[in-house]
Amino acid sequence: MVKLANNPTSLTKGWSGIIEAYRPYLPVNETTPVVTLLEGNTPLIPVPQIAAQIGRQVQVYVKYDGLNPTGSFKDRGMTMAISKAKEAGAQAVICASTGNTSAAAAAYARRCGMRALVIIPDGYVALGKLAQALLYGAEVIAIDGNFDEALTVVKQLAENYPITLVNSLNPYRLEGQKTAAFEVVDILGDAPDWLCVPVGNAGNISAYWMGFCQYHQVGKCQKLPKMMGFQAAGSAPLIAGHPISSPNTVATAIRIGNPANWDKAIATQESSQGEFNAVTDAEILEAYQLLASREGIFCEPASAASVAGLLKCRDQVPSGSTVVCVLTGNGLKDPDAAIKYSDNSVKAGIAPNLEVVADLVGF
Ligand SMILES: *Cc1c(COP(=O)(O)O)cnc(C)c1O
Repeated sequence: MVKLANNPTSLTKGWSGIIEAYRPYLPVNETTPVVTLLEGNTPLIPVPQIAAQIGRQVQVYVKYDGLNPTGSFKDRGMTMAISKAKEAGAQAVICASTGNTSAAAAAYARRCGMRALVIIPDGYVALGKLAQALLYGAEVIAIDGNFDEALTVVKQLAENYPITLVNSLNPYRLEGQKTAAFEVVDILGDAPDWLCVPVGNAGNISAYWMGFCQYHQVGKCQKLPKMMGFQAAGSAPLIAGHPISSPNTVATAIRIGNPANWDKAIATQESSQGEFNAVTDAEILEAYQLLASREGIFCEPASAASVAGLLKCRDQVPSGSTVVCVLTGNGLKDPDAAIKYSDNSVKAGIAPNLEVVADLVGF
């Protein structure tokens, strides 16, 4: 098979996307057509205001994966899933999505000329994500049901028709997503002591764990992190120990009642001596505002669950340790939430007059 003519690897200097960067660790070969938007290489940003709330010389970073091409970590998995689907000759891919998977699937599938079929739970997909899927050219179907019901339909379609499933049940998704762990170690020089992650279908936490273990095996890191997974309290099946039939939370990206990667999630927690904990919507929104207004980092509500969780468990963090919180998606994905839940508001209806405006801002 020939390389895609528009394969950016041959055209760019520097970063060439996660497949080129981590090729020896990924199930690709010379004939795999690399479908990439140069995802990955996202910043690990220190968050001193959050660290100060913990104290005891704890260093805290956020892995800001909202800076990927479609605005979430899903791009890491999608470059792999779509490249492998292309290699296998697929002409259409399908996913159920709370939004970010559909945006990523649509972008990568359309980039290589495949159909992207997207099934979403009606009314529970953030505006920015829906806008992306539509403009990228996905065929979007909203069902009267939640994510878990959408996933059931999608699995049946993929079993009965020539359509490739690109939800995180697709093993290539996790392979791609594990590269975020590689990047963290490449920057820190070792694994962190804690990794805090928001958990929905539990693909990401499982992928990070795979990545850390693989790097540990080849000697790239000396230790392994405690994997700390956080679910929204209204949507916390892994903490309840059973599926939740009507999950609810403001953090729509993790509004999932029956995680597709349940067994992997438990295995990750056990082998890393980690924990699953629930954070309330109020705690999520507090962390969301704190990140934006004190650290200058705008993530979507689901992403803030990692920081909310860290703050909730702050007394357990060992002195002098290093913590990484994963910020899974960009704040611009959900502008409605930002406006609705901000303490801040626009002072409107003001005359265009120096004295009036100066007075208003306290001068
Ligand atoms: C998909 C997603 C999650 C949840 O990841 P899982 O792999 O399903 O656990 C969290 N945050 C954002 C922004 C997401 O898009």
